[in-house]
Amino acid sequence: MKVFDAHCHLQDPRVWHMAPKLIESALQSGVVKFAVNGTHEKDWHLVKQMSDDYPSTIPNFGLHPWFVADRTPNWFQTLRQFFEATPCAAVGEIGLDKGSHGRNIDFNDQVEVFQKQLELAKELNRPASIHCVRAFGDLLQILNEAGPFPAGVILHSYLGSAEMVPQFVQVGAYFSFSGFLMSMKEQKAKKMLKAVPSERILLETDAPDALPKNPAFVIDDDAHSSVSRADEGGTESTSLMESLNHPANIHVVLNYVASLLDMPPEDLAELSCKNAVHLFSYEGTKLDKI
Ligand SMILES: [Zn+2]
Repeated sequence: MKVFDAHCHLQDPRVWHMAPKLIESALQSGVVKFAVNGTHEKDWHLVKQMSDDYPSTIPNFGLHPWFVADRTPNWFQTLRQFFEATPCAAVGEIGLDKGSHGRNIDFNDQVEVFQKQLELAKELNRPASIHCVRAFGDLLQILNEAGPFPAGVILHSYLGSAEMVPQFVQVGAYFSFSGFLMSMKEQKAKKMLKAVPSERILLETDAPDALPKNPAFVIDDDAHSSVSRADEGGTESTSLMESLNHPANIHVVLNYVASLLDMPPEDLAELSCKNAVHLFSYEGTKLDKI
């Protein structure tokens, strides 16, 4: 069974050192492609290097809303240069966040950076991978103003309502599901999934984040098995590794989404893989053999 991971972060510093092993075991499990998303200026070169080293990865470059305040004055120019040097790249991860993390980041800044990158995606005719937390109204308005997006936009780890689905479909959205879907009430998730047109469904891991419940694969690495955190009470040691997601857990996501859709996992794997191949097939990528 072939599966396409439409959104992940294998360049993340928490797993970068073991990326070759993760990719190898995920490939063996049937994952055919990984759309690896950069998040800020400092990791774009890692995403590029990964795509040079591993043809199974698709590079995505973007400035994530959490890192908007850290951008340099030249960030957009640098981003453009990465696209010039990497013809097969898509745009991501970009977006809006009014959640517990994002609410500390100036929202006007987030909007400005997001709009610029959306325009770039349009200009380059590339899909864009979008993060949205508690800002679906703003997102829809901005996409309507800037759209439509013939190359598609991916609402990654979609946890929005069923009611908003048709409005996002109109601007060219695809809906990508990760282990985070398991945090949504089952009935609500079912209703939302059934509102998504079948040709718009994607699957992702968001690895090393979004560990699904009952993961099939767990990352264990002694060198990174704990982190020291200084806080008011002194230093505290917290285990991080058990919360890290492995890209081969896409099968857990597949089985969960298939069960909510009352669909055989094989059919959903084929369908979502076909959708992802269609979306990521643009000048520069060679996905015809999948
Ligand atoms: Zn992500």
